[in-house]
Amino acid sequence: MDFTLNEEEQMFKDTCASLADDLLAPNAGAWDRGHIFPAEAVAQMAEIGLMGVAIPDSEGGTGANALSYVIAMEEISRGCASCGVIMSVNNSLYCDPVNRYASAEQRGEWLAPYASGEKLGAFALTEPGNGSDAAAMRTTARRDGDDYILNGTKAWITNAYEADGFIVFATTDRDAGSSAVSAFLVPKGSDGFSLGKKEDKLGIRASSTAQLFFENCRVPAANMLGAPGEGFGVAMSTLDGGRIGIAAQALGIAEAAFRAARDYSLERKTFGKPIAEHQAIAFKLADMATRIEAARLLTHQAAQQKDAKLDYGKLSAMAKLAAAETAMWVTTQAIQVFGGNGYVTEYPVERHFRDAKITEIYEGTSEVQRIVIGRAVLKEALQ
Ligand SMILES: Cc1cc2nc3c(=O)[nH]c(=O)nc-3n(C[C@H](O)[C@H](O)[C@H](O)COP(=O)(O)OP(=O)(O)OC[C@H]3O[C@@H](n4cnc5c(N)ncnc54)[C@H](O)[C@@H]3O)c2cc1C
Repeated sequence: MDFTLNEEEQMFKDTCASLADDLLAPNAGAWDRGHIFPAEAVAQMAEIGLMGVAIPDSEGGTGANALSYVIAMEEISRGCASCGVIMSVNNSLYCDPVNRYASAEQRGEWLAPYASGEKLGAFALTEPGNGSDAAAMRTTARRDGDDYILNGTKAWITNAYEADGFIVFATTDRDAGSSAVSAFLVPKGSDGFSLGKKEDKLGIRASSTAQLFFENCRVPAANMLGAPGEGFGVAMSTLDGGRIGIAAQALGIAEAAFRAARDYSLERKTFGKPIAEHQAIAFKLADMATRIEAARLLTHQAAQQKDAKLDYGKLSAMAKLAAAETAMWVTTQAIQVFGGNGYVTEYPVERHFRDAKITEIYEGTSEVQRIVIGRAVLKEALQ
């Protein structure tokens, strides 16, 4: 298996790395402290084609492959994990399903402006009463003439405050399980659609997260994404792809924490020498680098499998599980390398630690990834 980047992929990585180093990393702390949406950074990300990386250029995107997407996600998240999630939701959770399911009539309005970064998308599956068990959703869609009427509440929706368009999942029959779920394209500002307060989160604080309220919100039937009853399939196939992006986000956070710890260990002296020369610290750095590289190989393999149009569900779950747990472990070690300085906001590693935690929760918790992987390996054994 060849994981060498070709010239084009390497150039893309370098461009993203420059943006991360020059604009994102120097400002990420202030954005985090102030809960400031990084609008200028998102505009620059759009300019270099990061808001629709794997969407064809004929549809307003960049037309790159899934591997390029994960490379970009890692670099951007290394600079600012909030920028990473804003980008990941627009790319993986919004543009990808719209590209795969939108009708010819829907594409002009709902895809190109989002893939180019002119507009921002959001994905509304989770509800206050159900996250992992998404099929148990309570939000309803009732047909009324040429429209559907949406009623219910969605929870934890990333980009809620800035998004122009939302993919909203709702059921036409609460007793029928996943087969009654449909997906709808809902514009911001629709009558009967309002936002809750911004959640005050542990990490990724520069991205907005909020509840969405639907009270007799009328959506044209023409805004259904995919066929009636196809919504659960839209959501699950979207999350398979999205998980590779979150794996890459986790890698970026871990890499940022590793580099900070490595550089600090060369400067900080105890007992007359840099702490890097104490074997306990050098071994920590060795383990951090090794775990990151292992998770990166798995993430790149999942992306390559997607590019090759092979089944990648098991690998994307493995990549997300491995990268998220690596990010949590590496960021914990990074704080330890910094000692007391790791515990204060003057240095970035406490933010990396707070940012890492979410990668074990959204787009399927680590427990859910283990369920997906467990099912896949048992199925393989029985084949
Ligand atoms: C900051 C943030 C941003 C988010 N962004 C979005 C978004 O943009 N769009 C969206 O739709 N959702 C979003 N989410 C929601 C996220 O995907 C859910 O929080 C996640 O899927 C977990 O669901 P839950 O919170 O309801 O936890 P629950 O499902 O209640 O789970 C609670 C605990 O039980 C465990 N558990 C549950 N079922 C099982 C089982 N069968 N076996 C073993 N363990 C189990 C879980 O792993 C977890 O540890 C976001 C969440 C956060 C915090």
